[in-house]
This record gives sequence, structure tokens and C-alpha cells, in this order.
Amino acid sequence: MADALALGLADPGAGTRPRVVAERLSYGYRRGVRVLDEVDVALHPGSVVALTGPSGRGKSTLLYLLAGLLRPWSGTVRIDGVELARLDDRHRSLTRARTCGFVFQDVVLDPRRRVIDSVLEPALYAGESPERWRPRALELLAAMGVALQADSRPGEVSGGQAQRVGLCRALLLGPSVVFADEPTGNLDHDSTEVVLAALEGAARGGAVVVIATHDDRVVERCTSHVRLA
Ligand code: ADP
Ligand code: MG
Repeated sequence: MADALALGLADPGAGTRPRVVAERLSYGYRRGVRVLDEVDVALHPGSVVALTGPSGRGKSTLLYLLAGLLRPWSGTVRIDGVELARLDDRHRSLTRARTCGFVFQDVVLDPRRRVIDSVLEPALYAGESPERWRPRALELLAAMGVALQADSRPGEVSGGQAQRVGLCRALLLGPSVVFADEPTGNLDHDSTEVVLAALEGAARGGAVVVIATHDDRVVERCTSHVRLA
């Protein structure tokens, strides 16, 4: 691998077939300026993978590529053998909604929606009834310590609360892959614990969890590590 160094720790997924496989992945935002150069990664069910590297190195970009939110210049990403980039828009967004949860680095909640409706939105993308998922959404909000915010509008929610709401939204449908982009960046120690416990719980349930982070405490808790040099 040219651009990423994979360091296997005590990875519970080792030995299983990888669920997310990227091969020779290259991408840049501007012609001639390559952010990622021939990156290879293979991520296993049950793993919590730390993705590290200096700011501006391409961690968020790699997460977007793995989730099919960006199309690579070259190379492939497969999730359970399916190459999202080759699907048409409708199938790509449906497959992503059913497979992937994504916590964005700066969670911005839709100002027109109540918090609970933002959490339920992935059900709509997955072609399911949000009502069916309401009990689970409320359970996640309670576990994340933001149940009181369920009926709030985003203006009444702090940055750290929005980040946890974003995690509830990402976990709603029990995705088989969870991408979390610096999910503890705005959080104090206790909230960091709650978020890590939820992500570890998803991995114990069989998901692949990828966490882009600068936080050494988070890296220590992960079961494997991909470092962008
Ligand atoms: P990281 O998450 O590791 O901080 P990013 O993936 O956000 O890094 O960014 C990698 C590089 O791509 C940086 O040089 C950044 O300035 C550039 N970049 C990120 N997003 C865009 C964009 N939308 N348009 C142009 N350049 C971008
Ligand atoms: Mg980033």
C-alpha cells in the first residue's frame, strides 16, 4: 500500500472476510492535486478501526470515499462485494442508507426539523416508515444523554449535543458499517465515554466501525489502526 499504513492490533475481525475493501484508491478535489494516492484498506466485521493522520491529510476524504459519498479518481471500494460508485444515484443512496451510518465531523442539524425527526431521517432514505423506528430513536437519544432534546429545534442544541444526535442518527438502522468523523471532537470526558461505548456496542453487534480521530484515548480503545502517513 502506497499511502496508508495498516497496523493490526488485537483485531477481533482478523480471520474473517473483510466487509469494506478499498483497492488502490486515489482522489483529489482539484485536477493534479492528489489527496489520496493508491490507498488500500480492508476492514473486518467486529473491528473498531482508528483512522489517524495530521489535519488536512485526507481522513475525512477517505471516509467519504469509503461511504460512496465521493467517487474515486481511480481504484475501487466494495462493501460486502458491492461497488457503490457503480450504482445509479437511486440505488447508491438506498444501499448506503441500508448499510452505512455516517457521523459527520461538524454535525449540522437541519434547522427546520425537530431533533427526533433528524434522527429518524435515515429511515426515509432506506424506504422505511420512520414511525417504526421512533422507539429505537428515543432509546438511542436516552442512551446518549440527549433525550430531553428530542423535541428541540437545532438552535436549542449545543455542538456536543448535536454530535451525539448525529451518532443516534447514524446508528438508527443498525448499519453494518459506521463511519464516525472525529465524533468526540467537541465532547468532555463523560460524553466521550458514552460515544465510544455506543460505537463499541455497534462493533460487538458485528458492524465495522471506523473512527477518524486525533484523540489518543480513542485510538487506544480501537482494535485496529489505519494511519495516513
Ligand atoms: P482531514 O480530515 O485529514 O483533516 P480532509 O480530508 O478534510 O483532511 O482534507 C484533505 C485535503 O483536501 C486538505 O488539503 C483539504 O484542504 C482538501 N479539501 C477537503 N475538502 C475539500 C473540498 N471540498 N474542496 C477542495 N479541497 C478540499
Ligand atoms: Mg477531517
